[in-house]
Formats: sequence, C-alpha cells, structure tokens
Amino acid sequence: MSPNNPFKYGKSLHRRTQTPPAYASYRSYKPYLRVEFERKCVYCLMPDTVQGEKSFGADHYRPKSVFPDLANAYTNLFYCCNACNSYKGDAWSTSPTYFVPNPVDHVMIQHMRYQDGTVAHSSDAGEYTIELLNLNDPDAVNYRENVIHMIDVLEDEMSEIAATEKNIAKKLRTKTMTAQDAAVAVATLEVSKVKTLRALKQLCGTL
Ligand SMILES: [Zn+2]
Repeated sequence: MSPNNPFKYGKSLHRRTQTPPAYASYRSYKPYLRVEFERKCVYCLMPDTVQGEKSFGADHYRPKSVFPDLANAYTNLFYCCNACNSYKGDAWSTSPTYFVPNPVDHVMIQHMRYQDGTVAHSSDAGEYTIELLNLNDPDAVNYRENVIHMIDVLEDEMSEIAATEKNIAKKLRTKTMTAQDAAVAVATLEVSKVKTLRALKQLCGTL
C-alpha cells in the first residue's frame, strides 16, 4: 500500500494539538479542527482537499441535542465530512460495546481498518459505526478506490520523472547530450513534476 494512501486509521490515540480561544459559535473552530485532524474526516478519512472544505464541518461527538452544554466545547468537536456528519446526526450510544469511536478517545485501528476502498470492522463498535455512518455506501467505496488508483498512477509518474532526470544527468556526464538540450528537457520535466506533485498532494490531503 502506498505510504501516501490517506485511508489508514490511526494506531495510537490522537492528542489534541490546537488550543483555540473560546468562541460563541462552534463553526468558528473549523479552521482549528482542519489543522487538528490533518484535513481528513475522522470517521471515513476522506481528505477535504479532494471534495473541498465546504463539504466538511464540525461534528459534535456528543450531540448538541443531548449535551447542550458541550455545543461550543472544542474538545467535543471533530473534523468531519458532511456525509458522515449527516448520517451520525443526533445518534448517541451509552453502550460500552456499540459506539462510534473517535481518534482522541479510541485507537481507531482497533475498531476499523481499510481494505482498499472498503471499511472492515475489528470490533462491535466498528461494525456499529460502519452501519450508522453508511461507510461502505457503494458510491463512497467506488470514489475511494478511484482516489487510491489515481494516487498509484501519480506515484508511478513521479518515479518515471525521477528516472528521466537521472537519465538526463547521465547523458550530460557521458556527453551524449548537449547542455542546451538537457536544460530544455529538465525545464519540461520540471513543469510535469510540479503538476503531478500538486495533484498527488490534493488526493492525499496534504495540499
Ligand atoms: Zn467522513
């Protein structure tokens, strides 16, 4: 699996890094949440760079309707795609077995793991979450598989660019290419490198 594949659940607990001031509206925390959770939905791991930040919001882990006091508490907020947020809705479980794990309080990989574009469960909580958030909706699975495939393609392209760069350097050394031709070839290569890297970063969520 590519090291750039964004669909990998955490192997350890996330310790919050951001310390925003107290805001009157939870929406103001969104920029902090975006940094806190590295631009990915904490539940399905889709990067916000793929579909845009507007398709993301702040999830109240403990729903406002049940915990009104936590409506504007940063520690109750998680970065979440609109699909997961809407499926989660006001759901709240007090069961120690069937609950939605979050990366601050739970080691996510103990509950769910990705197999290509599909989420598999490793616990009852994972099974409950996949069902509640409809994580294996066929369109979502298909979309993730396309994202993963494109990452693979772009990574191959980056390797090819690197190989061509080496080749040009070798030709220069062995004087089988003029400095002028090499400069032109390198400049062309640089353009595709910038484009490929930009596309790769966008798909991986590191833009
Ligand atoms: Zn999501």
